[in-house]
Amino acid sequence: MTLKRITMKQAKENIGQEVLIGAWVTNKRSSGKIAFIQLRDGDYYFQGIVLKNEVEPEVFEIAKSLTQETSVMFQGVIQEDTRSKLGYELLVNNIEVIGESHDYPITPKEHGTEFLMDHRHLWLRSSKQHAIMKIRNEIIRATYEFFNTQGFIKIDPPILTGSAPEGTTELFHTEYFDQEAYLSQSGQLYLEAAAMAFGKVFSFGPTFRAEKSKTRRHLIEFWMMEPEMAFMHQDESLEVQEQYVAFLVQSVLDNCDYYLDVLERDKEILKKYTQLPYDRISYDEAIELLNKNGFDDIKWGDDFGSPHETFIAKQSERPVFILNYPKAIKPFYMKEHPDRDDVVLCADMIAPEGYGEIIGGSEREVDYEKLSQQIESFGLSLDDYAWYLDLRKYGSVPHSGFGLGLERAVTWITGTEHIREASPFPRLLNRLYP
Ligand code: ATP
Ligand code: MG
Ligand code: MG
Ligand code: MG
Repeated sequence: MTLKRITMKQAKENIGQEVLIGAWVTNKRSSGKIAFIQLRDGDYYFQGIVLKNEVEPEVFEIAKSLTQETSVMFQGVIQEDTRSKLGYELLVNNIEVIGESHDYPITPKEHGTEFLMDHRHLWLRSSKQHAIMKIRNEIIRATYEFFNTQGFIKIDPPILTGSAPEGTTELFHTEYFDQEAYLSQSGQLYLEAAAMAFGKVFSFGPTFRAEKSKTRRHLIEFWMMEPEMAFMHQDESLEVQEQYVAFLVQSVLDNCDYYLDVLERDKEILKKYTQLPYDRISYDEAIELLNKNGFDDIKWGDDFGSPHETFIAKQSERPVFILNYPKAIKPFYMKEHPDRDDVVLCADMIAPEGYGEIIGGSEREVDYEKLSQQIESFGLSLDDYAWYLDLRKYGSVPHSGFGLGLERAVTWITGTEHIREASPFPRLLNRLYP
């Protein structure tokens, strides 16, 4: 009889069954009569037990000789183990070594961050990094579920572009045969065109920013979710945003319990983030609040720094929207406030616990003349944006959209210190390898 190969994801349906499991050794300890082998199989971290008196003598010898990261095919019986996080372990009958491993560089002792970043291709195997990537995957899965259920279609804007939505300073330049091209820093303008064709659209793809910042919140390459919705004003867009973020947190709570435990993330705190609505505060009020509380390094017209965002977020137990920023510090396409010409109909969603901005969004300017003026006043060429201006000539409607940074959301929901751990192979100011 050939045994079936499973992973520990199927442990529950296989209790008491003899199965095959392919796994890597993370650690091991053995006494004269019993060997405890710590394993990972891609899904979970668990224990294999080898009893000297129950197996062939050579099997116990192999068990005692296993080194860190050796890959192995185990034959054994799944049994419940209430002391472990997973709740199951493997009672091993036979062992076949698949690939040897010697002098694995990442040992159970502490390593510095630069060392770990140099070994990112191996660091991904550690339980913490593994848990973060599993939660990242759940956030991606839940995003598709949310937007598909709400009738959005996914549209993929180009990554190579000829025009620059927010000025050229943070753009990567590249050759496009005999023309200059840029790597996309947002698909938004294209998504507006798509929203006029399909009503509700979203994209999810890589974006690039040549920002010389070395913060805990900025990557050079990151993935962004960008929904764009026709017949939609800013206040309705805020409701979509908070429902979406609450759905992400709820999905992680529902489907990633084990991984949240690995990360020691406080689930009671996360549960609060699923309660709606989130608080809203205007930019004006936020400045006033900061000045009243001793922040004299910021005045009306400035963008917030990280300490400002953290202070404002502390006023609530959930994410907070900051509404209506000064026109001068926001991109050209945002719609002017109907009662004031110095602010625009936009909002940033600020995450709690000091994680900063996770969403930036706005209603878009639809007035042809105003938009043309804005493009020119930002020093951009009307020719480059002729196609975008066309959208205001043929059946323009109120529309709004937003962008959520995937790695920002992952960093926050997993409670991770630095955004570099939210990307499998992060691109940072000083890092393009591995
Ligand atoms: P910040 O103020 O933090 O620099 P931003 O206002 O420049 O962000 P937007 O242009 O509004 O960012 O982009 C939308 C979202 O993309 C942000 O709310 C954030 O979640 C994410 N994001 C922006 N820049 C980065 C980056 N360098 N690394 C990772 N995520 C980013
Ligand atoms: Mg920025
Ligand atoms: Mg910002
Ligand atoms: Mg922003």
